[in-house]
Amino acid sequence: MLAAILETVPTEELVVADDVTLRDIGPGDVRVKIAHSGVCHSDLSAMNGTIPQEPPAVLGHEGAGVVVDVGDGVTHVAPGDHVIIAFSPPCGTCPFCTGRHQPNLCMTGLVLMSTNMQFRQGDRVVGSMTGCGTFAEETIVPGIAAIKIDDDVPLDVAALIGCGVTTGVGAALNTAQVTPGSSVVVIGCGGVGVAAIQGARVAGAAAIIAVDLHEGKLERAKTFGATHGVLPDDLPAAVAEITGGEGFDFALECIGMPATMRQAFDLTRRGGTCCIVGVGRIEETFALSAFEMFFSEKILVGSMYGSADVRTDFNRFLRLHQAGQLDLVGMISRRIGLEEVNDAMACLGDADIVRQVIDF
Ligand SMILES: [Zn+2]
Ligand SMILES: [Zn+2]
Repeated sequence: MLAAILETVPTEELVVADDVTLRDIGPGDVRVKIAHSGVCHSDLSAMNGTIPQEPPAVLGHEGAGVVVDVGDGVTHVAPGDHVIIAFSPPCGTCPFCTGRHQPNLCMTGLVLMSTNMQFRQGDRVVGSMTGCGTFAEETIVPGIAAIKIDDDVPLDVAALIGCGVTTGVGAALNTAQVTPGSSVVVIGCGGVGVAAIQGARVAGAAAIIAVDLHEGKLERAKTFGATHGVLPDDLPAAVAEITGGEGFDFALECIGMPATMRQAFDLTRRGGTCCIVGVGRIEETFALSAFEMFFSEKILVGSMYGSADVRTDFNRFLRLHQAGQLDLVGMISRRIGLEEVNDAMACLGDADIVRQVIDF
């Protein structure tokens, strides 16, 4: 079958191979025929080394499809069921999954995914990004990563829930816990930023300020619920006009750069919440003064996978979509075949792209 493989790091190109196979299905596994996979900036981050990923590996971690086979012991899905693949699934029994109510941080699930190693090319073992490997016509994932959804949900929309939508909407609703009537600034208006803007709108924020370098992205952000679109240079004037100079109740950084993380902290009002959604390089840092944490009492919080419980949040976000409160169809800017995946990677930063979806 077809699959897009990361062969070296760093690289600018994935190798699209047509001779990839799957290992035998094991106990607890689910084999999924991928219908659609979103192309996420984190795939590019795996290619350029920002996110550590051992090659060879099939990339893609934002997919949905149809179950074709299940291993021994799997009872929550059956062949024919529609599923979204979760890249950080909960094991259901560890402290994160139980008493702490932080299943997105489950290490057992993460280790299970990272040791999945489901692909083969001849005798060669080929791994996958976070165990998903949705840039392939079929994949095998641990059963806990296959989240059942209703059959009437379009699988292209469902695919977006697998990463970008859950990351952005979840950051606003679950991590930052945006409140009705509040002011929210979202830095970076790509797919995750647009999802965060929509999450803030669902939460009832009164002012949602989109910040990006591209004016086109600012205009588009308004169609998803941003009340203001502001270029970085115009931020001081916007803070003065919209917040009386106090800063915003919530700031969500959706880029992953030290400078914008620090900027998000500065844009947060005294006592407000600064939520870091973007993924930066492991060796990069940003500085906070030892005094300002005390004096500002700002809450600085990271957000991984939107602090989501995929077992309930995937279907919750789909219900919001079906109720017309999350525009997921509008987030699909371009449809491609797998053979165009490298072109999609090159287009990731383009102003007219929110999400590109691979149709299998
Ligand atoms: Zn992603
Ligand atoms: Zn767990």
